[in-house]
Amino acid sequence: MTNDIAISVQDLKKVYSPNTKSEKLALNNISLNIKKGAIFGLLGPNGAGKSTFINILADLVRKNSGNIKILGYDHQEYLKKVKTFMGIVPQELNIDPFFTPYELLEIQAGLFGIPKNSRRTCEILKLLRLEDKAHAYARTLSGGMRRRLLIAKAMVHDPEILILDEPTAGVDVELRSDLWKNICKLNKQGKTIIITTHYLHEAEELCDEIAIIDKGKLIAIDTTSKIKSFINKKELIILFDDKNFNLKPITDLNAKVEIKANLLKIIYKPEEILYSDILNAVQNSNIKINDIKINETKLEDVFLKLTKN
Ligand code: ADP
Repeated sequence: MTNDIAISVQDLKKVYSPNTKSEKLALNNISLNIKKGAIFGLLGPNGAGKSTFINILADLVRKNSGNIKILGYDHQEYLKKVKTFMGIVPQELNIDPFFTPYELLEIQAGLFGIPKNSRRTCEILKLLRLEDKAHAYARTLSGGMRRRLLIAKAMVHDPEILILDEPTAGVDVELRSDLWKNICKLNKQGKTIIITTHYLHEAEELCDEIAIIDKGKLIAIDTTSKIKSFINKKELIILFDDKNFNLKPITDLNAKVEIKANLLKIIYKPEEILYSDILNAVQNSNIKINDIKINETKLEDVFLKLTKN
């Protein structure tokens, strides 16, 4: 294994309640590598096995079989050591309401055995813009601040890998983009980020690599752009004023053409047809263009196709 791999997983399998009526195969021989320095998105519909995967990494759920290496160390054999490599941010916002962010980080640092003079409590609070709230009771914090506090808590031992389970669930749009900015900031500082999210457009914008799991099986893993190219089509949409134009140059193209009301849609595969040929055909058709736009494949299109969900 090369040393640019943060997490390597081989044939990971998890069965809940084995040999009972409610037996559930939650992870079905998952194998994947996550590169150091990546923002890696783990996507999948509800019940796909994402939390099980993260909970196994966090040592909250026991795997049935398979191997995991964190920064080259076996997860089982060196459990105590590999735990120091990872900071795990859980989905639930369970924070003790009677402690302040400062106290919570200090307690967490104590749990990791970090000596007082090596603690970075103030630095971390500042990084996640919680310094103003350092001494406020956690119960007075907003939802977005609590999320940031959970990230801060996961960072006290300065882990190389930060794992976030649905960090933006239930967070409003503004706070979500704010949280992503914070996560990107941590990535720029060199942290490997692993994230599960329902918000596919966010994963599309922020993740370098994506794995899609469905019913416990890995169905795709690649760079975000390669995953999107699974459905390699673009749509050129023209809003026109009047129907007095010659459609033939456009229908002669190697593309699908649809007209609905005042919209003309040309659906094409970029590897089969040049954009300039389409523009020439549009010009030759003498269509009076009111507006024009191009739709590219979205991660959501691929996700829906692959998970048929
Ligand atoms: P996701 O996080 O992608 O929504 P989960 O990992 O939570 O998926 O769940 C994967 C599957 O395992 C689901 O079918 C879920 O019902 C089942 N499952 C999860 N946790 C347990 C458990 N503690 N006991 C039994 N089944 C479970």
